[in-house]
Amino acid sequence: MTQPPGVLFVVATPIGNLGDLSARARDTLAAVGAVAAEDTRRTGQLLSRMGLQVPLISLHEHNEMARLAPLLERLAAGESLALVSDAGTPLISDPGYLLVRAALQAGCRVVPIPGACAAIAALSVAGLPTDRFVFEGFLPAKQQARRGRLEVLVAEPRTLVFYEAVHRLPAMLADLADVLGGAREATLCRELTKLHEQVLHGSLTSLLEATASGEVTLKGECVLVVAGSPARRADAGEARRVLSLLAAELPPRQAVTLAAAITGERRNLLKDWLHEARRSGEADDPPGDQE
Ligand code: SAM
Repeated sequence: MTQPPGVLFVVATPIGNLGDLSARARDTLAAVGAVAAEDTRRTGQLLSRMGLQVPLISLHEHNEMARLAPLLERLAAGESLALVSDAGTPLISDPGYLLVRAALQAGCRVVPIPGACAAIAALSVAGLPTDRFVFEGFLPAKQQARRGRLEVLVAEPRTLVFYEAVHRLPAMLADLADVLGGAREATLCRELTKLHEQVLHGSLTSLLEATASGEVTLKGECVLVVAGSPARRADAGEARRVLSLLAAELPPRQAVTLAAAITGERRNLLKDWLHEARRSGEADDPPGDQE
């Protein structure tokens, strides 16, 4: 008789306060055959604080691929496993995606044991719209690439959520203020659930000043929640409409320049829209010059 495959439990662990480990997470960790953990030493400490002794298997971004086969073998043999990361919910800017996908493809049940997640905790106290949001995770560390990514997000109407290493916060806030505008509302959440928890609301400029004045200590971990672009939300449709009317009559460069002047929309974004519209056949080829 063949054994039914084991279950892979994806278990969230605390992001600081150990009290946030749920009773169900503890029971699950106690019941599985082994725990795949990003840092076995750190998870070992968590388990021993819970009074648990469970075999640990290291699974981090550099060995995840190599670990798939042995972990799938164990699941296929009917053993249930848990996947945890160093803190919070696995797969959210953490390893585990390859394992979850492979387990699903192998026909295993994958069960979430939900709990802490820094992004969701930050959103819940940011005081910014949460009906729709965009999780951006970590921005690129290099300034040029970071600004490039922010350019793409400048007209995004949904609330934006970023993870960042706290020592990079001043550079990140400076770029955010520069590209999105210093008046944009934001909330900085540092050391959530920990002793020195700090939640600071303000404009991007005021948050940048708070890092310069020392009001925000550049220690620990942080999430930045940034308001979406309210102006663009109302204007984007109108800007596109103006652009397409102008582009039907004028060379692209002129159409883009005039549309930017009329609507206040960014030239680069209008240029991208026009390229995209031409590519998809929504807009006719231009009379005259090329952008
Ligand atoms: N999987 C985790 C989760 O569910 O939130 C995130 C892991 S990611 C590698 C680590 C980042 O999460 C940190 O750099 C920081 O941006 C954020 N983070 C984690 N714990 C935090 C905390 N206690 N307070 C604020 N941000 C935190």
